[in-house]
Amino acid sequence: MPIDFELSEGSLLAKEHFHRIAEEQMRPVSRKYDLAEHHLPTEWVDYWWQIGRKGPKKKAPGDGFVTICLQAEELCWGDAGLYLRMPTPALGGSAVSAAGTQEQKERFMAPFGAEGGHPIWGAMAITEPQAGSDAAAIETTAELDPETDEWILNGTKIFCTAGEGASTVDGGFVVVWATIDKSAGRGGIKSFVVPANTPGMELIGCEKKLGIRASDTATLRLENCRVPRENLLGSERVSKKKEPSASGSGDKGFKGAMATFDASRPIVAAMATGVGRASLDFLKEELERQGVRIRYDAPPRELTAIERDVMEMEAELQAARLLTWRAAWMMNKGKPNNLEASMAKAKAGLAVTKITQKAVQLLGPLGHSKKLLVEKWMRDAKINDIYEGTQQINQLIVARRILDYPSSMLR
Ligand SMILES: Cc1cc2nc3c(=O)[nH]c(=O)nc-3n(C[C@H](O)[C@H](O)[C@H](O)COP(=O)(O)OP(=O)(O)OC[C@H]3O[C@@H](n4cnc5c(N)ncnc54)[C@H](O)[C@@H]3O)c2cc1C
Repeated sequence: MPIDFELSEGSLLAKEHFHRIAEEQMRPVSRKYDLAEHHLPTEWVDYWWQIGRKGPKKKAPGDGFVTICLQAEELCWGDAGLYLRMPTPALGGSAVSAAGTQEQKERFMAPFGAEGGHPIWGAMAITEPQAGSDAAAIETTAELDPETDEWILNGTKIFCTAGEGASTVDGGFVVVWATIDKSAGRGGIKSFVVPANTPGMELIGCEKKLGIRASDTATLRLENCRVPRENLLGSERVSKKKEPSASGSGDKGFKGAMATFDASRPIVAAMATGVGRASLDFLKEELERQGVRIRYDAPPRELTAIERDVMEMEAELQAARLLTWRAAWMMNKGKPNNLEASMAKAKAGLAVTKITQKAVQLLGPLGHSKKLLVEKWMRDAKINDIYEGTQQINQLIVARRILDYPSSMLR
């Protein structure tokens, strides 16, 4: 079977379009919103809502999910925090797409594609004070009120990206994971779409962070928060069967919810690649300015330490990108990509951490200075190795998949 790594015209046009946006709209306000943590980056949000989200003027067929990853890489080359603050359905949208019915997709996603209106956000709230990596340990409950046909949600969600916008601006929504039957373990976990400003969903505050400081990472409290019965994504059926495979999920409801990660992990890997490339591009430009040339054709024994370092950084970046594109391409083809999505995420999370730290190191005091964005990229990089499954958890998934072990046998 032939292997073709060439991007389609549509994808290349998109890449160019988003790179221009990154350069012209994001970089100029990058430092401003890193410093002004929690302030809404109004000029960026408005630009994205009115112009950016429409994509390139010239349209041509693209590569579907690969194009989404290209967009993530380019925009995170611009600024990863601002990327996460863009008014989009974000992870909430991935959850609706992965587990929702056609009717639910239309109902919840249509406002994001509508012309005009005001910027809106989507978010996904899984993590709780006592449950992060082990998503099956969540304690938020959803109880059906048969009289009103509504779900009543109770619990606390922490570290919810875009949670401020998604919970407080009409038109947006937060996808909340909750259990409808604790005795069923992971089989009882379902996801619910909670529209912004639903009574009972309260924004408690936003987290102060090391990196991606332009992104609103929220704590949300759900107290007798009622949503219509039809806001549960997927099936209400509770399965008490033990998980049958190594996928880390045995029930269709939980499996549907976990499928969100197969779509979101390649995007996070692409985001990481964008931050890493920002550092590497800057480093290479600076070295060139200082008269240092990377001799790709020199024999290994003649390479300087800095040439080796740069080549290694480039190799790490390329490997991360290729794994990401493979996971994305499999999504396009409708192939199961659980293994490949975790491989890409694990590789890219580690690669970007190493690359950005090395860039600071090689630039010396300049790398450490706030005059440049290199120190910021190092801070922005680390989160890619934490959210959407930490490095360790993604490695665990890769091992389970390769060995075909269920999570009960390899945890
Ligand atoms: C900025 C930011 C944004 C976030 N956005 C969201 C969001 O939008 N929605 C959301 O739901 N969550 C979000 N999160 C939460 C994030 O997904 C979790 O922090 C992450 O999954 C880790 O969970 P935890 O914090 O409970 O850590 P823990 O699970 O307690 O992990 C602590 C350490 O132990 C390791 N560890 C845990 N279990 C194992 C194991 N079995 N084997 C080996 N090592 C293990 C982990 O890798 C980690 O190093 C966000 C977090 C941050 C920091």
